Amino acid sequence: MTVGSGGAGGGPTKDATQPKVLLVDLDDTLYRCPKIPAIVKQRIQEYMVQKLGISEDEVAAKTLNLYLSHGTTLCGLVASGYRIDFDAWHEFVHQGALDYDTLLQPDPSLRDILCSIDLPKYILTNANKVHTERCLARLGLSDCFQGLFYFENVMELAAQRGIDVSHAVLCKPDPRIYSLVAEQLGVRLSEVLFFDDSARNVAAAHGLGAKTVLVGAEKPCPGADLALPTMHALPAAMPQLLDQPGLVHEHHARGHGRGADALVVGVGAGAGPSGSSAIAVSVPAS
Ligand SMILES: [Mg+2]
Repeated sequence: MTVGSGGAGGGPTKDATQPKVLLVDLDDTLYRCPKIPAIVKQRIQEYMVQKLGISEDEVAAKTLNLYLSHGTTLCGLVASGYRIDFDAWHEFVHQGALDYDTLLQPDPSLRDILCSIDLPKYILTNANKVHTERCLARLGLSDCFQGLFYFENVMELAAQRGIDVSHAVLCKPDPRIYSLVAEQLGVRLSEVLFFDDSARNVAAAHGLGAKTVLVGAEKPCPGADLALPTMHALPAAMPQLLDQPGLVHEHHARGHGRGADALVVGVGAGAGPSGSSAIAVSVPAS
């Protein structure tokens, strides 16, 4: 499967099925700040030692093994039988540990790129709501997205759909999360263009039919249709996605784009083929 418009010179060839929705990861995809994952990793290990009684000798290896085997360390810990207060966890490893104003800076160029894409755009992250909203606010990207899928509302949606999350966490790259989100948005996964910095997250979405972009890489991994060093390279790589750059703010303010329609589809009670509930997608404040 290829992504993008056709062209001579070896560029991507046009695909018959153009995306209807962009689904975008947050951390290490919309921004790059090596200090943030380093701090989060340190705090995760501190939590495991201080709160869960895991020995300092084994915490580093355990963190890595759980992350690799379950998608996130939190998911792995829960699957291993640890009982964890999710709100306390996220406070400890994310918003309570990160000085967002120092670590992140507004990114007006990325804002222009995203606002120039006349397709509904949603965040899909394993992180929690507060972290997601604070990152987007600091980056100046809050109103670039029609909705946010993060830890809390993904877990609620999973429970609604009969996925047992009483003693489990649903997160990327579990294939069920992509199906759940697509169903919630009323689109097929083949109509989703998914961006993530994680090769395994990309591969999982691709395996379900999504078009995929690996961000933070020069070359695609298996399961990625395209690679971008950063999201800022998107206009050059996929120019067909952009709609009248330069008019983006006026367009956005009018709210006449397809994104505005998708907002209704995404969050309306009973909207979409799934008859979705009111829990649905969190809409960022703008
Ligand atoms: Mg990421």
